[in-house]
Amino acid sequence: MAETHSEIAILGAGFSGLAMAIALRRSTVSLGLPADGSGVVVFEREPRIGGTWAVNRYPGCACDVPSHLYSLSYAPKPDWSRAYAPQPEILRYIDDVARQHGVGPELRLGSGVASARYDEASGRWRLCTDQGDEHTARVIISAVGGLSRPKLPEIPGLERFQGPVLHTARWDNAVVLSGQRVAVIGTGASAIQLVPQLARVAGHLDVFQRTPPWIVPRPDGPIAPWSQRTMARWPLLRRLRREALRWSMDIRSLAFVHLPWLMGVAEWEALRHLRRQVPDPALRRALTPSYRIGCKRILVADDYYPALCQPNVALRAGGASAIEADGVRDRDGVLHKADVLVLATGFEATRPLPEGVVFGPGGRDLARHFGDCPSAYLGTAVAGFPNLFFLVGPNTGLGHSSMLLMIEAQVGYVTQLLRWMHDDGLRTLAVRADAEARYNADLQERLRRTVWGSGCQSWYLSADGRNPTLWPGSTFGFERLLATLRRPDFVVETGRDG
Ligand code: NAP
Repeated sequence: MAETHSEIAILGAGFSGLAMAIALRRSTVSLGLPADGSGVVVFEREPRIGGTWAVNRYPGCACDVPSHLYSLSYAPKPDWSRAYAPQPEILRYIDDVARQHGVGPELRLGSGVASARYDEASGRWRLCTDQGDEHTARVIISAVGGLSRPKLPEIPGLERFQGPVLHTARWDNAVVLSGQRVAVIGTGASAIQLVPQLARVAGHLDVFQRTPPWIVPRPDGPIAPWSQRTMARWPLLRRLRREALRWSMDIRSLAFVHLPWLMGVAEWEALRHLRRQVPDPALRRALTPSYRIGCKRILVADDYYPALCQPNVALRAGGASAIEADGVRDRDGVLHKADVLVLATGFEATRPLPEGVVFGPGGRDLARHFGDCPSAYLGTAVAGFPNLFFLVGPNTGLGHSSMLLMIEAQVGYVTQLLRWMHDDGLRTLAVRADAEARYNADLQERLRRTVWGSGCQSWYLSADGRNPTLWPGSTFGFERLLATLRRPDFVVETGRDG
């Protein structure tokens, strides 16, 4: 196939890729992009848009951030069906937003980027897709997300299991679960949504828990039609509600970041929830965490503990020691027979990109450069990798509020960088190594005192205990930081061709 070219290529069509594509559509004139949208291509390996909300299709999948805050600020949805929206509704919302903003012609669905190499002679990135197509772009924007590569557990014998094996992020609805013996490994955010659904249909369900999660009540429920009508009729009320939600969630960042001892209040609430929902003292003990709440992600659920109390469900505390052809051994070596194995074991969060995909000048592999602890300037740019920007990059994750707020701030920042490149006819733009190092030294110093560094193991941390995933502050703080471009922090090259 002939090589194609665009000024900008976006990698990934989840929320961040979509928000970026919309921002570029709105800025075609100021960025000097062709009015017909041909200056931008969005590569997406899945056959549809939606990113995490397209691939996480396990039963019970929903958002644990309130619906009215889990939407783009310029695309409000007054008629969310529930306080916490289920996955299919969020996916429909994403489709609607794309349609309303005309995103479509720039999409290359079912076309993942297999490699991206920076060509120093032309100052362009050369992309090769998994379909064998070639493409060049002056700028690439990574919108692949932090939680896109499923993590398989390091349990001996995983390959020996004879029945179907499902990861929560690679669900297959064709696998029969009704009446089956099902084993679930993991008790994180995905598992606690899935387990109550499995408990309803499985003949027997074993839940292998390595570390008990902290769980607080979920104030969920359908949103009444009168409330939906009010939100549709009164945009000001809708905005006020969103702002109130944002403030009430953001204020919690104070406890996570500065005052971890304040988390004791949330611990008290979670323990009361556990006492109310689990009458059996032995089960309650097995479900009681021994680390500070918030160190791992705080989970919200009203139906998880009751599911574990059902007669067809057993909690196997201590995790799994081995997997056999026909089941899973618990920590004492006892085999629990299973027909289906479910891996709710999370993602390669500290290694969002595999090695051998993105190569900067001199053939430098970005994933090798990142190692186990990626870092970037403002989560957006990496020294030595020109004309490459990140959305949901290192240290932009949140433990307390909506990622869409972070995404919008980053999209605005990248748009500023692109405008600078256009206005000044820049051939290349890259962050300075010293600016990136300064930013990250300060960040890691702030992270050291947070609840995330209080002594538990979590996907937030790299093997050496640094935190390459979370933003240590409020969403307002991040937005403020990214509102202004500090030009001296970048090294640029002029003399752009065409
Ligand atoms: P996760 O939080 O990383 O949980 C993985 C689970 O698997 C943990 O319980 C972990 O135990 C267990 N595990 C891993 N390896 C194991 C092994 N070898 N043996 C036994 N257990 C093992 O993954 P997740 O539940 O998929 O959630 C990841 C993130 O996705 C969340 O934190 C959240 O940010 C996002 N998410 C969001 C929503 C939402 O509602 N918005 C829903 C789902 C997911 P340990 O705790 O001992 O490591």
